[in-house]
Amino acid sequence: AKKLGRNCYQFFEQSMNEEAQERLRIESALRNALVRQEFVLHYQPQLDLATGAIVGVEALLRWQHPELGMVSPQRFIGLAEETGLIVPIGAWVMRTAAAQAKAWHDAGLPPLRMAVNLSARQFAQPDLVQSIAAVLAETGLPAACLELELTESLFVDDVAKAVALLHELKGLGVALSIDDFGTGYSSLSYLRTFPIDVLKIDRTFVGQIAGDSDQAAIVVSIIALAHNLQLKVIAEGVETADQVAFLRRHDCDQVQGYYFSRPVPAQEFAALVQENASA
Ligand code: C2E
Ligand code: CA
Ligand code: CA
Ligand code: CA
Repeated sequence: AKKLGRNCYQFFEQSMNEEAQERLRIESALRNALVRQEFVLHYQPQLDLATGAIVGVEALLRWQHPELGMVSPQRFIGLAEETGLIVPIGAWVMRTAAAQAKAWHDAGLPPLRMAVNLSARQFAQPDLVQSIAAVLAETGLPAACLELELTESLFVDDVAKAVALLHELKGLGVALSIDDFGTGYSSLSYLRTFPIDVLKIDRTFVGQIAGDSDQAAIVVSIIALAHNLQLKVIAEGVETADQVAFLRRHDCDQVQGYYFSRPVPAQEFAALVQENASA
């Protein structure tokens, strides 16, 4: 038993080492990614369910590393968050997404709201409001065309401070949405006091509305909750016609998901919008 124990321990140590090395590799590559211009944004449409029109777009970060290949956000966002690298990366995302939205606007595309994900670290930066104001001023994007996606986890530490910050952000004229709604631990009471415009129903609920009546009940309840509070509601991760029909029947405002389009490069997205507008 002793021998087995030691072997297990060695195996454990070795795999820990490999994991730590992999982390270090990604971390040092991540430090260089911005200057080497390895990041790119992909864009996923958000459609109005009643009209079928594309009314919004979410910017999603992609990292193309020469050796590691396409690294998924799931693999590097957490690390970027821990190391603080998410702050300059997030600033790049904000600037690039806003400039893209303005360019599409100028090119004659129908006006779209550009949604950008905001991480906890960014939310904690003392100059957050100023830096977003600066991006709006530099790019010329109307504030109403920018939406910030926040998660419930940002609010748990210091609720009063979070409320004050949200009001400051609202003061700029941008829209605020709660991402992954229903997966966090925070209380529902914040919904009344926070100046929020949109709830995004997490795709873990949406994915099961056809088969699981409990999940379907949760989705219906979130839509009712949002509407009672005068909020818009977006379902994310919509993959099937059945899900679309269910969401339409229950008065969901907007949808986003592979059923309509995967996140795509900017050029492809512009073509998608043009096609949508002329349909
Ligand atoms: P998220 O904000 O919840 O973004 C939605 C994720 O769901 C995206 O994954 C998107 O590609 C994926 N998705 C969209 N439609 C469907 C669908 O129909 N089915 C399925 N299975 N998935 C769908 P992605 O792009 O891999 O991003 C993962 C997460 O990484 C995001 O989740 C977000 O939390 C984070 N992330 C991505 N870009 C940024 C960014 O610029 N800044 C920050 N802070 N986080 C980001
Ligand atoms: Ca999001
Ligand atoms: Ca989400
Ligand atoms: Ca998510």
